[in-house]
Amino acid sequence: MQPNMSPAKPRPADNNSHGLYGQDILSVKQFTPPVLDYIFSVSEEMRTLVERFGSADLLQGKIMTNLFYEPSTRTSSSFMAAMQRLGGQVIPINSVQYSSVSKGESLADTVRTLECYADVIVIRHYEAGAAAEAAHWASKPIINAGDGVGEHPTQALLDAYTIQRELGRIDDLTVGMLGDLRFGRTVHSLTRLLLNRNVTFRFISPRLLRMPEEIRDEVTEADGTFTEHEDLEEVIGEVDVLYVTRVQKERFTDLGDYEKVKGAYIISPETLTRARQEMVVMHPLPRVGEITYEVDNDPRAAYFRQMQNGLYIRMALLATVLGRA
Ligand code: ASP
Repeated sequence: MQPNMSPAKPRPADNNSHGLYGQDILSVKQFTPPVLDYIFSVSEEMRTLVERFGSADLLQGKIMTNLFYEPSTRTSSSFMAAMQRLGGQVIPINSVQYSSVSKGESLADTVRTLECYADVIVIRHYEAGAAAEAAHWASKPIINAGDGVGEHPTQALLDAYTIQRELGRIDDLTVGMLGDLRFGRTVHSLTRLLLNRNVTFRFISPRLLRMPEEIRDEVTEADGTFTEHEDLEEVIGEVDVLYVTRVQKERFTDLGDYEKVKGAYIISPETLTRARQEMVVMHPLPRVGEITYEVDNDPRAAYFRQMQNGLYIRMALLATVLGRA
């Protein structure tokens, strides 16, 4: 692996008050409150644009490569849709086994190849730090679309945007995160994004799947508050957000351990009878049984709206990084 962060990429001085023009998007740590507000407001504009016109030509002449070493439905297709709705083009490498990666080509050579053809590379990889490594080699912007158990910054942006839209704020909330907090990169990113927002975190998981120490330390260092629970009942009545996650089977080295913890929590309409009326249930999806289909009709179930929001957030990000927002 190469050094963690790439040197800052050259960027023009204008059109860049947010500092993201021409830059890599590797971690939520890049999103200070004003930058987050900026992305939210561009996302609102993108929503209006899609609702009124379907598409625009903002990114006409630009090309995005989707380079996915791990499976994806929402992230991959929403990035593609985002680019196409803004008039750009896409090189989709969603099955790396059919690319030269299967011939043993390194990540460094793969990204140096693809940046000859594209203006931005969206990468998903099974190894934490891989997006940063790609960024080290590339001179074009790299967007991290999930790196192993590391981060999933664009998911956290759309999660925070969803909370903002659903509850009117992302500050002063009690946020419950439930399920696989150990391997779930979405909860790692979302926790980091909500630091310094006066959020009280309730981490609910089997012992085996506790939130990593590194993230718990970051909460403490930011003077944040968290408690850990195995029993959802201890906190279900107080959370403003219940962020449910899938147990990440593909990350277990011992499938016996997976068997012990899979199905640890199942959210049903009955569970929600003890939740507040003014709260939301979220999930990055895919779900594999953690939330029953009957919950979908509950107005508090925000996960389909959440994935729709991913389109607007990714349109906003692409337009910003490519200097056309
Ligand atoms: N789609 C999310 C991710 O890529 C969540 C998941 O896979 O469970 O991290």
